[in-house]
Amino acid sequence: MSNKTQLVVIGGGPGGYAAAFNAADKGMNVTLINDDKNPGGVCLYRGCIPSKALLHVAKLLNEAKEAKNWGIEFSEPKIDLDKLRSFKNKVVNQMTGGLGQLSKARKVNYVEGRASFINSTKLHIKKIDGTTEDLEFENAIIATGSLPTRIPALSIDSPRVIDSTGALELADVPERFLVIGGGYIGLEMGSVYAALGSKVTVVEMTPSLLPGADKDLVNVLKKSIDEKMESVYLNTKVVKMEDTGSAVKVTFEGNDVQEKEQLFDKVLVSIGRSPVTNGLGLENTKVKISQRGFIEIDNKCQTDDPKIFAIGDIVGGAMLAHKASAEGKVAVEAILGHKVAFEPNAIPAVVFTDPELAWAGITEIEAKEKGIKVEVARFPWAASGRATTVDRPDGLTKLIIDHETERILGMGIVGYGAGEMIAEGVLAIEMAALAKDVALSIHPHPTLSETVMETAEVFFGESTHLYRPKRK
Ligand SMILES: Cc1cc2nc3c(=O)[nH]c(=O)nc-3n(C[C@H](O)[C@H](O)[C@H](O)COP(=O)(O)OP(=O)(O)OC[C@H]3O[C@@H](n4cnc5c(N)ncnc54)[C@H](O)[C@@H]3O)c2cc1C
Repeated sequence: MSNKTQLVVIGGGPGGYAAAFNAADKGMNVTLINDDKNPGGVCLYRGCIPSKALLHVAKLLNEAKEAKNWGIEFSEPKIDLDKLRSFKNKVVNQMTGGLGQLSKARKVNYVEGRASFINSTKLHIKKIDGTTEDLEFENAIIATGSLPTRIPALSIDSPRVIDSTGALELADVPERFLVIGGGYIGLEMGSVYAALGSKVTVVEMTPSLLPGADKDLVNVLKKSIDEKMESVYLNTKVVKMEDTGSAVKVTFEGNDVQEKEQLFDKVLVSIGRSPVTNGLGLENTKVKISQRGFIEIDNKCQTDDPKIFAIGDIVGGAMLAHKASAEGKVAVEAILGHKVAFEPNAIPAVVFTDPELAWAGITEIEAKEKGIKVEVARFPWAASGRATTVDRPDGLTKLIIDHETERILGMGIVGYGAGEMIAEGVLAIEMAALAKDVALSIHPHPTLSETVMETAEVFFGESTHLYRPKRK
């Protein structure tokens, strides 16, 4: 390894590898430092990809149960946990191995190790093989991501208490499984274990699952969660946990729960994610950290140290893979001196439960908070031909439309396949589409995507399959 590089990227998740690959494509000399064998980060090794492989299997198990409503009955599925785990691991290895090859093909200098700043132009690297090296750089991008949040009351030292990484390992299918935290990671992992046969309880301290998402969407999902899970406690806190040797004794506080002390075989703590700045040596640079521990950046992803940029979970905001990748590309453009800014109108969010829940752009909650005058058009899927053919009327598509200009500011969907459909909303919002544009765009029939067009028609009181009086 030469001890000088034009650009160093620290952290090989979807932020870091997207930035490194993009910089290499643009002709830069790039070093990517990451502490796994291949690029991938949390997303590929311990996040998006393994969880979606397991959720795919969960969906199949749920559909096999539903099939009896259509005259087809399958016998009880036999679950071979070792094979299922191998499938998930194969997916991870295939994807991360592919990234390793892409890195080589682009001649990115990939270093397996951990980096820390000596000063604003030099890094110290502890390599996995035990050797160390210092590296000078012209520019750096920090993309060190996040880790599951730990708080002392919930961090008891017990193999029965796990985080999302532990849950993805799929060591067993516990009979009684508690999920602490009703955010997307808790609900996705809870859905996997419920489909595999666990009795899953979800506890959330706020009044709603998926805090931040619009309630009309969450209500549709909640009905299905209530059916699939043993219990959901809202407005409820876990105040104590104790490993009894054969189970975890959990003490709850809140009106939603009758039995204040309950036993669980495993407990997943999924209460959020915290930025990874520990050991990075940021104190040797001018990089600033916010009170919540995230690196502060401007709209070019530049930190207070002009040579150093930061992207992805480490800077907070939407802690999602595609946001990290998009910021990575902006940082590279900024380093190259191009006029650029990270100012998206829509960062989509998808919860891969069954049904899926997705939104992009502004939510109704946000519009209210920001005092933006909007109108909301909704199309319930009971009126959709396609939703009826797949026996999934449990869906809702909504558009959040600027009252004056009729421009689409946000879209929300809950329903089968919502995660794929939300991309249409992203395009509409980013292209500044008006409700009329969407209403006049011919959508294929019979598809779930038609609900987007019909929602725009609802706005004008002209939906073919749903009668709603004309707006005034
Ligand atoms: C269970 C789960 C499911 C998820 N599902 C989704 C999903 O469906 N869709 C979605 O968009 N997002 C999902 N996420 C979130 C997504 O994984 C993150 O938003 C994304 O990985 C952030 O990317 P990043 O590049 O910022 O950092 P990360 O992916 O966190 O990668 C950072 C990497 O840097 C390494 N590193 C840290 N410090 C150093 C150092 N000093 N030197 C070298 N390397 C270092 C870390 O070990 C890590 O490998 C999920 C997360 C979890 C946990």
